[in-house]
Amino acid sequence: MNNTSKSEFKILELYVRDFGGEINSEAIVKEDILRQGIHFEAAPNPDAAFSSKSYFIFSFNIDNDKEVLNKKYPEEIAISGGPFALKRTVISVRIHNSSPYKIKLVEDETNGEMKPVLYLNEIFIADVTFSEEKSYMTQTTASGKSVRDLAPTIEWGYLIYLAVFRMCQYFGEDLECMFCDMNSNYINQRKINQTYSAVKSIDDIIDALDIIALSKDSNAKAYTLTGGSIIDEVKFNGDSEVDFYVRFLEKIEDKFKGKWISKIVVQAHDKDNLKRLKNAGAYIYHTNFEIWDKDLFDKLCPGKSKYIGRDKWVGRILDAVDVFGDYKVIPNFVAGIELSEPYGFKTVDEAIKSTAEGLEVFMSHNIIPRYTTWCPEKTSRLGKFGNISAPLEYYIKLLLKWHEIHYKYNLPIPEGYGEAGPGKAEFSVSAFMDAFNSRQSTARRL
Ligand code: SF4
Repeated sequence: MNNTSKSEFKILELYVRDFGGEINSEAIVKEDILRQGIHFEAAPNPDAAFSSKSYFIFSFNIDNDKEVLNKKYPEEIAISGGPFALKRTVISVRIHNSSPYKIKLVEDETNGEMKPVLYLNEIFIADVTFSEEKSYMTQTTASGKSVRDLAPTIEWGYLIYLAVFRMCQYFGEDLECMFCDMNSNYINQRKINQTYSAVKSIDDIIDALDIIALSKDSNAKAYTLTGGSIIDEVKFNGDSEVDFYVRFLEKIEDKFKGKWISKIVVQAHDKDNLKRLKNAGAYIYHTNFEIWDKDLFDKLCPGKSKYIGRDKWVGRILDAVDVFGDYKVIPNFVAGIELSEPYGFKTVDEAIKSTAEGLEVFMSHNIIPRYTTWCPEKTSRLGKFGNISAPLEYYIKLLLKWHEIHYKYNLPIPEGYGEAGPGKAEFSVSAFMDAFNSRQSTARRL
């Protein structure tokens, strides 16, 4: 065992010792894995039955070369046991060939078969299972399209992810969010899969949902309808972004009303347009502010800044409560980009202070902002600046602050995110759901 192995494990161990009581070891280990990604020492057997990465919107890989994209990796893993006695913890897989977190294959002493385990350098961290393949994933629609491609499920099957426009028009003007690799992911996917399309058809989506709805092993409870920003209506036959998504919502809700919680991710729209989305069946509104600090928003989200503007974006999030109701507005931010080079804050405490200000504003208005742990994809603009992830200290302080403010305003566990708490949470791209403790879990629920 070398010194790097020992020191990285030692640091993790100290964080778990110091903060595990407040935010639990599962959440701490999960954040450390999410921020650094995972290296598979041997690619999994491509014939094995597990739910493979579907590249539904962004790549969510730090390394994105052809070799990575041509291999089959699980969408998510669940880890348990090990030196921290972890309860089952679901984690999104982000391929990073230089990560200290490694999946190794070892012989299972009980049956002699090979099984995956997780190491931090040379130290065993946890047993691993891959997200399971559901029966609907291998089926095709009447038009011959793959259900896995049209309507992938994540969060261990809980969420159907309907990215119906897999490009973003901000890229066309070099105004994409600097952490985003959506269009390069689309281009890379097209190179290896000619059926990977930018715009999905409503009929295909309805067919795919039908197959999921009828399958015996679906545990889906919610769907997210989303895609890149639409600013050029000419390319959409005169449809605005809201026109485009309303049509999907109406058809889906017409056929499956009440079956799944509906969530819509679009730009920050005015109240009239929000009412159209609500009337069409959207239950939860996500309009992602990405980062709170105004200057950094302008720099890191130039498209949002140009077409809507940061103050208007925030104002529309606040207005959305009048349309969708308390706790039904859940905007996302990309946690960690506050510390990115070249524009970000220089210290963790400055980053947390700024983000906490935003959390306070939103949560005091019964809005529950949630976050994705930043994955510094090398194909994003921030990735091209050579950024690596924010430190674990940042994520621990963020979890503490998020839950402190959430508790202060006596907010419920957000709907549409499944179970909360260690051993139960299935939300896979950050640990805010894992970090709920029993005090909050028994607090007011919807
Ligand atoms: S709005 Fe920003 S984050 Fe969303 S798809 Fe477009 S560039 Fe990416």
